[in-house]
Amino acid sequence: MKKIMGELALIEQIRSGAGAPRNRKVALGIGDDCAILRLPKAHEIGVTTDFTLEGRHFHRDLHPPESVGHRALARGLSDIAAMGARPLAAFLSLALPADMLATRAGQRWVESFFTGLRALGKAHDVPLAGGDTAESPTGLVLADIVLIGSAPTGRALRRSGGRAGDVLYVTGALGGSAAELVDLQHRKPDHRPAPSTPGKPGTHPQMYPQPRVEIGQALLRRHLATAAIDLSDGLSTDLAHLCHESGVGAEIFEDTLPIHPLTTKSPRGRDDAIRLALHGGEDYELLFAAPASIKMPSTLAGVPITRIGRLVRGKSVSVLDASGRRRPLKPGGWEHFSAQPKG
Ligand code: ADP
Ligand code: MG
Repeated sequence: MKKIMGELALIEQIRSGAGAPRNRKVALGIGDDCAILRLPKAHEIGVTTDFTLEGRHFHRDLHPPESVGHRALARGLSDIAAMGARPLAAFLSLALPADMLATRAGQRWVESFFTGLRALGKAHDVPLAGGDTAESPTGLVLADIVLIGSAPTGRALRRSGGRAGDVLYVTGALGGSAAELVDLQHRKPDHRPAPSTPGKPGTHPQMYPQPRVEIGQALLRRHLATAAIDLSDGLSTDLAHLCHESGVGAEIFEDTLPIHPLTTKSPRGRDDAIRLALHGGEDYELLFAAPASIKMPSTLAGVPITRIGRLVRGKSVSVLDASGRRRPLKPGGWEHFSAQPKG
């Protein structure tokens, strides 16, 4: 990347935008061979990595650069949230096409990517403490984010802690992210709104999903969950993971699902809204289980908590509709709504 802006200049720009290089969580940030993090006493670390690949996880003609940066960090933060952990720092490996830094428009794209990433980092007090930068050999933007978090030793919320009889809850609303994406894909390119900021929470669930970091920590701190997972691939798929790891089945009560208002905006009708809520991915809400004896608050950190079903003995996962009819809930279904492959 030796054109208008070189790799060193880019790293310098990332560094100057990264904020205070030293704080209580990061003893040494960008600029050395490693970052040094401070682990709170009697805590262990949680580590997660997530790709953000152009053409697979985002499309430059659909997602504004601020959204791409936001979503890259949101994917990692959501995993940290699902463990009930507290984020310590983020690391970003970024490969950019050679021509990107050679044009003013390309440089603006990169700046805006970091604007989106940093805004979400600031909201959750997560500094960007390092990364790597390279020229992409493919003409595509490729990013990988690493999040480091901490949780009190032995207390992180796992997928495997659920027991038959536990009640299932979700945060927020479901299906909005897939609905927003489908709507955008059906519009002509010059009719695609490209919000460069999140706006009111929940209004752009695809462009600016809100990872439930505070809620995850509250669940852990207040002993409110036996098991948890974040909804990155869709309720049907992620519930199957939780059930598999916990060695249980589940029942979902269809008419209790908190359906995102965007799913009913188009002429798709209620059936498609339910399908988006069950199978649409990338909502980044939390799904968690709790013993039936626990009195669950109706909101946590200002976000509604909805009871949607329960864990049962055995392996079968099913949905009960309003009239009590039962059907199996198979993981997946996303492909039905979108050409966007998942990963
Ligand atoms: P090294 O060659 O020792 O791996 P680099 O020259 O790649 O170091 O990086 C210099 C510093 O800039 C390091 O602290 C690294 O973590 C940071 N850095 C490089 N690329 C990024 C990036 N995309 N985002 C955040 N920090 C970065
Ligand atoms: Mg080095």
